[in-house]
Amino acid sequence: MKIHNFNAGPSILPKQVIRKSAKAVIDYNQCGLSLLEISHRSIDFEKIMEKTTNLVKRLMNLNKDYAVLFLQGGATLQFTMVPYNLMKTEAAYLDTGIWANNAIEEAKKIGKVRILFSGREKKYSYISKNYKIPDEVDYFHCTSNNTIVGTQMKIFPNTSIPIICDMSSDIFSRKLNFCQFGLIYASAQKNISSAGMTIVIVKKEILRKIKRNIPSYLDYKIHIKNNSLLNTPNVFSIYTSMLTLEWIENKGGISILEKENQQKSKLLYDEIDRNNLFENRIHKEDRSNMNVTFFLKKKNLKKDFDYMWKKENIVGLEGHRSLGGYRASIYNAISLESVQFLIEVMKEFERIFS
Ligand code: PMP
Repeated sequence: MKIHNFNAGPSILPKQVIRKSAKAVIDYNQCGLSLLEISHRSIDFEKIMEKTTNLVKRLMNLNKDYAVLFLQGGATLQFTMVPYNLMKTEAAYLDTGIWANNAIEEAKKIGKVRILFSGREKKYSYISKNYKIPDEVDYFHCTSNNTIVGTQMKIFPNTSIPIICDMSSDIFSRKLNFCQFGLIYASAQKNISSAGMTIVIVKKEILRKIKRNIPSYLDYKIHIKNNSLLNTPNVFSIYTSMLTLEWIENKGGISILEKENQQKSKLLYDEIDRNNLFENRIHKEDRSNMNVTFFLKKKNLKKDFDYMWKKENIVGLEGHRSLGGYRASIYNAISLESVQFLIEVMKEFERIFS
C-alpha cells in the first residue's frame, strides 16, 4: 500500500533518486565498489562534485561571481559561519520563527544584531513587509521559508546590503532571482538529499571585507579554495543531491516545480479554509507553499483525526513539537495525488464528525 509521506525533514525524495542512490551504495557505476567505499579524491567523485556544482549553477541561473559549496554541520552551523565571515560590527535580522531566532542568537555571540521585525508576539503568523534595512549594517539575514509555523517570504528587499538567506525548506521550489542574494544556505534534508550536507551559494566579493582570524572549517574562503574538499565531505549526500538536481532538470527546471507546488498548496489551503473542522492561522499572503500548517477547531477530535490519517498510511502529519496541530510538508517530490488523498481524508473526517 502506498505511504503518503508528509515529513518535514528528513523528508520525501523522488522514488527514482532513492532507487539510483541505493544502487550506487551497492555498486557505484559498476566499478565493483560501493559509493561509500570510493575516495573523495578519486576521479569518480571529482566528476560527481563538478556535475552537482554545475547543476546548482544552471538551475539557479547563477553567474560566475558565485561559488557553490557542499559543507557539513547543517544549516545550524551556517548560523555561526555567516556572522563569523561577514559581520564587522552589526547585522540586521528578521525574526520570523524559531530557526531565524536561532540564527539571531548565534550572531549575537559575534557582534551586534539589529532585529528589524519580530513576529514572535503574533506567534509568527505573518511576515512584515514594512521594515527598513539600515545603510550601516554589514548584511541583512532572512529565512525564506519558516518550516515550523508555515510562512514564506514572497518578496525580498531591494537593497545594496548583502542579503543572506536561509533557504533550507524552500530551495529549488520556486523561481527567484538568485543573483539578488549575497549568500544562500540550505541543509539538504528537505528538497535535496539526505541529512548531513549543506549547500552554500556565496557571492565571492562579499567575503573580502573581514579581517577576523577565522577557524579553518568556518572560513568560506578556505572552502572555496579547496573546492569543498578541505576535509572529507558527505559523499553520499552530495551524490544523492546530484540525482535530485538531475531529476529537477529533467522535469524542466525550477519553474515547472513552482507551478506544481502552487497547485498542490492551493488545493490544500482551499480545503482547510472550506472544511468546518480545520483552520490555518497564517496571514493569507504569507502562507508557505512548502509547509502547510493547520489546527483542529475542536481539540477533542484530535484522537479521532489522528486515528483516521494514520490508518490511511499517511505519515509525518504531526505539527512541530513547539506548536502542536498539524503540518503537511509538501516538498517538490510529493505528488499531487498524495495531496489530493490527504484532502479526501479531511473531507471524510468532516463528513463523519461535524
Ligand atoms: N533553518 C530552517 C529554515 C530549518 O527548517 C532547519 C531545520 N529544519 C534548520 C535551519 C536547521 O537545519 P539543520 O538541522 O540542518 O541544522
